[in-house]
Amino acid sequence: MSKNYRAELVGVFGDPVDENPTGVMEEAAFDALGLPFRYLTIQVKREDLPAAMRAVRAFGMRGVNLTIPHKIAVISHLDDLTQAAEIIGAVNTVVNEGGRLIGDNTDGKGMLESLRENGCRINGSNLAILGAGGAARAIAVEAALAGAEKVTIINRTLDKAQELAEMIQRRTGVTAEALPLLPKAPVPGGTDILVNGTSIGLYPDVGSRPDIDYAGITPDMVAADVVFNDPNTLFLKAAGARGAKTINGLGMLVNQGAVNFTLWTGREAPKAIMEKTLRGEFGLD
Ligand code: NDP
Repeated sequence: MSKNYRAELVGVFGDPVDENPTGVMEEAAFDALGLPFRYLTIQVKREDLPAAMRAVRAFGMRGVNLTIPHKIAVISHLDDLTQAAEIIGAVNTVVNEGGRLIGDNTDGKGMLESLRENGCRINGSNLAILGAGGAARAIAVEAALAGAEKVTIINRTLDKAQELAEMIQRRTGVTAEALPLLPKAPVPGGTDILVNGTSIGLYPDVGSRPDIDYAGITPDMVAADVVFNDPNTLFLKAAGARGAKTINGLGMLVNQGAVNFTLWTGREAPKAIMEKTLRGEFGLD
């Protein structure tokens, strides 16, 4: 039988990218399943993205992740977008389907999967999302596409929340509202799932939490955070102290990595191994 020494290439393009931990997690998953895939963490400067995307085609790469500053710019180099990526207006994952580059966005899918793993139903639920940046936007759009009853966007810059809420309402038909993230902002009545989609609490800002009225959190709510470093955020601690079920940002990170893995390999991702690898990287075990 002839041997095959060729690697299936995937990776991430970004700048800065050195501290992006995704490659360690994906390579652990490839190893676990004995797949001949390699995940390369590649610094690509803003002006070099066109050449890098031509390289994806020239090398026959199976796909790439995109991070800062390429998530929007990459769209003009692709052949098609998934519905979610098109509505979100940003791509973090590309899949090469026989020479056609398809853009997707797996951030929101990662959070939704993490919520579902913890017994949450998105269909028919009310989500309140703090933040209106890339992560919040992806989660809000995916929640609307998954049948949420209502999405409330609460953001420091109200304009951005309004723009996002209007876009969700227009593109998905789901009721969406925008509120300002003022000091002691109330948790909207009827909230089932409260998400911190801001970067508040991200290392080294670990002593901060969104300034909401935590007294409005009740034991029947679920609180989820996008911040994964450190995953034990003050937001989750405060929500947990009010009796809410809490879900940390590591779950979102693992699940979006698992979605990428499946898109590229067609195989179910070994999530437990991916999570263990990440926890090791962050010194959490
Ligand atoms: P963006 O810069 O696009 O958005 C940041 C958001 O946080 C904005 O809504 C911003 O409000 C808000 N914000 C930041 N600082 C403050 C503050 N001091 N007070 C009030 N609001 C604030 O970032 P991203 O959406 O890309 O990333 C957000 C977080 O999500 C990061 O911590 C990132 O690491 C995490 N993330 C986690 C993932 C995972 O898999 N777990 C995946 C992707 C991201 P304003 O609009 O007013 O500036």
